[in-house]
Amino acid sequence: MKHIRNFCVIAHIDHGKSTLSDRLLETTKSVSDRDLKEQTLDSMDLERERGITIKSHAIQMKYQHTDGVEYTFNLIDTPGHVDFSYEVSRSIAACEGALLLVDATQGIQAQTISNLYLAIEHDLEIIPVLNKVDMDTAIIEEVSDQVIDLIGCPKEDIILASGKTGLGVENILAAIVDRIPAPSGDPEAPLQALVFDSIFNPFRGVIAYVRVMNGRLKKGEEIRFVNTGNVYAADEIGVMQLENIPTKTLEAGNVGYVITGIKVSKEIKVGDTITHEERRCDKAIQGFEDVKPMVFAGIFPLDNDDFEDLRDSLEKLQLNDASLIFEPETSAALGFGFRCGFLGMLHLEIIQERLSREFNQDVITTVPNVSYIAYTKKGDKLNVRNPADLPDPTVMDYVEEPYINAQIITKPEYIGAIMNLCMEKRGILIKQIYLTTTRVELQFDLPLAEIVFDFYDRLKSISRGYASFDYQMDDYRKSDLVKLDIKLNGENVDALSALVHREKAEAFGRKICKRLKELLPRQQFAIAIQAAIGAKIIARETISALRKDVTAKCYGGDISRKRKLLEKQKAGKKKMRQFGKVEVPQRAFLDVLKLD
Ligand code: GDP
Ligand code: MG
Repeated sequence: MKHIRNFCVIAHIDHGKSTLSDRLLETTKSVSDRDLKEQTLDSMDLERERGITIKSHAIQMKYQHTDGVEYTFNLIDTPGHVDFSYEVSRSIAACEGALLLVDATQGIQAQTISNLYLAIEHDLEIIPVLNKVDMDTAIIEEVSDQVIDLIGCPKEDIILASGKTGLGVENILAAIVDRIPAPSGDPEAPLQALVFDSIFNPFRGVIAYVRVMNGRLKKGEEIRFVNTGNVYAADEIGVMQLENIPTKTLEAGNVGYVITGIKVSKEIKVGDTITHEERRCDKAIQGFEDVKPMVFAGIFPLDNDDFEDLRDSLEKLQLNDASLIFEPETSAALGFGFRCGFLGMLHLEIIQERLSREFNQDVITTVPNVSYIAYTKKGDKLNVRNPADLPDPTVMDYVEEPYINAQIITKPEYIGAIMNLCMEKRGILIKQIYLTTTRVELQFDLPLAEIVFDFYDRLKSISRGYASFDYQMDDYRKSDLVKLDIKLNGENVDALSALVHREKAEAFGRKICKRLKELLPRQQFAIAIQAAIGAKIIARETISALRKDVTAKCYGGDISRKRKLLEKQKAGKKKMRQFGKVEVPQRAFLDVLKLD
């Protein structure tokens, strides 16, 4: 145990976590050059393309220190997006130390700070690293000062590094041994292992990633998951190098994997504690919570015949993404589909993209909303996850909506614009703190619904990229909510219905109508687009009629070209949905929300 070091890397997206992690693997010869594809740790294709780490992974390295001893390092990777913050906190709980990686050209961002606080709460030893110091635009002095202000370390503790050139990598490896404490824990005590992540493997089923806190797990033993109460046999255990290496035991202090033959990832909960069925530990490792989806939307197949295929695909996705939830729903406009719950908008987009890429399923996503709580006059309490579920005004007493605590870090010159944005989003300013003379932290209470759609993008553009954002869930507060309907030629398109604050309803309705006018192709008849609250029309746009004959420009003659054009038009139609006579392109359902 003396020669083990467990650590993670805390960094804002793009500050170079993946690049530096690869450099650590390379320097410790944990991967052969042949295997060192760029960004080894991001194993899902989608992650690589988007440059984000969705699921956390862990990898073991062996490091020969100058003291002549070989150390075992377990690097636990963490996702870097607010949608996935629960997974960050579990990864942190599995470590004794953290590299705090800060881009020397950018400085500290809100995401970094909240993850850093999590790490400090868990008593992790923090090794500050300024990355990308090879760049001309690096402002090393200023960023060093920020780091010193934040964690109160002496300046000499900060390691200057570049994942690109390899500068500082040896120093980082040595600091991991010298500064991060070896794990403590009693190998003779009852088994207590933290599940900090799990993945689904199509051949092996669910693989749980664990950090053994106390005790010793042997292959084949009967184990109990404390929070779910499930009992299984540990069919295979081992450590994670580039491949999983089976071992006979896993002891206190170490990080490894457990395969139990579980076939559905829902049955393993990240944050759960594993113990022996025979000799149980007295308590679970604290901090376990069920991850709650925050954003809900309907997902419908383009073609109603694909409903069962869609169910099948969602079930497969759920096997390795336990945070995805879904239940069947019907829409008058779209037929049979599913109401799905997501951690956030990024999660929604990822699921939609995976459906299309991995399962060849093109879907229509309805206007997303958060989950509200409605109280009826009779005193019933209802969860409202779908605009259709909002009780009629005659039976409803009041509604509550979820609020978040948000932290925004920016330069002083952008305070005004950010205040305006947050006020427009019904935010309440809680605090304004100068971190240094050139960086200020603003704290707001904001309705979750207001940040779900276009908040990030607008924040980025008004601050020219110099603002970072992070949030935690707070509580539910009373809200004046209405259901806004969209009609095409008088027909309600329930997939476009939205729950909005009354003050925002008119502006929102106008924008949606305008946007639909741009997004809907002109057809042979005029189309009236209307927004309504109940029977009251609050906005209207009209698309004028068009005679469309795609073959007209072919000047008669060329039959094969004519046929091609017709085929193309037919293929285009496949991505359309019909409402009465009106055709709506699939893309319109998502694009309609990109309002600004
Ligand atoms: P992550 O999002 O934190 O995992 O960041 P990545 O490792 O994907 O890096 C983000 C971008 O910064 C990529 O384009 C990298 O090539 C670049 N990058 C990472 N580290 C360095 C560095 O030390 N110097 C320079 N110049 N570029 C870097
Ligand atoms: Mg990365």
